Amino acid sequence: MNIDPPDPVSISALNDFLYCNRRCALHRLDALWVDNAWTVSGTLAHEHADDPGYRQTAEGARIERALPLFSQKLGLVGKADIVEFRAQADGREIPLPVDYKLGKRKKWDNDDVQLCAQALCLEEMIGVSVPKGAIFHVKTKRRREVVFTEALRKLTMDTIDNVRALMLADTVPPAALKPQCDGCSLHSLCVPELTGRSRALDAAYAELFAPGP
Ligand code: SF4
Repeated sequence: MNIDPPDPVSISALNDFLYCNRRCALHRLDALWVDNAWTVSGTLAHEHADDPGYRQTAEGARIERALPLFSQKLGLVGKADIVEFRAQADGREIPLPVDYKLGKRKKWDNDDVQLCAQALCLEEMIGVSVPKGAIFHVKTKRRREVVFTEALRKLTMDTIDNVRALMLADTVPPAALKPQCDGCSLHSLCVPELTGRSRALDAAYAELFAPGP
C-alpha cells in the first residue's frame, strides 16, 4: 500500500504557532510579515553562530552549521543553527542541536519546542537518540540546556499536528488580545483591540437577540 507522506510543516512554524495561532496563519497562509525590533534582532542573533565566543563553548565537538533537517515520518523540514556532534566512548557521535536566540528565555514554550523538533529530525536522519539540546542566549552569552522530556516531545508532536490542521483549514483564526500582542510584529495589521473586540460584541449581540425558548 502506498501511503502519501504528510504535507511538510516548517519547524519555524511551530514557534510561530505557539506564540499565536493567528500570527502563524497570517504569516504562513496570508503571507503577511512585518519586521520589528524583536524579529530583526532575532535574525541578527542567528548571524552570531560564527562568534568566536561560541566556539569556546563548543570545544571538543565536531560542529555543523546551518544543517538542513527533515523528518519524513513527521513531515517536518527546517534547519539547525548549529549541531554539535559529541564523540562517545563507543565511537558513536551524539548530535546536540544548539539554537541562537538574542534575548532571555521567553515565557512561552515556543523556543524549546522548535529545538525539540530539530532533535526529532536528527533522530530520524541519523538513527540515534538525542536526549538534549541547548539554547544560546546571545545577549547574556549564556547557554541553557534543554532536556527533551516525554512532555516536551508530546507538546512538539501535538504542535506539529495543530500547525498541519491550521494549514489544511486554510482559515485565519480570530484575534484574541493577549500578552504576546505587545511584542508582535503583526500588531498593526492584526489590530487585536478592534478585531478581537468586534467578535466579542458579535457574540454578545447574538446572545442578546437569540430567539427565546
Ligand atoms: S497581535 Fe496578538 S492576536 Fe494578533 S497576530 Fe499578534 S499575537 Fe496574535
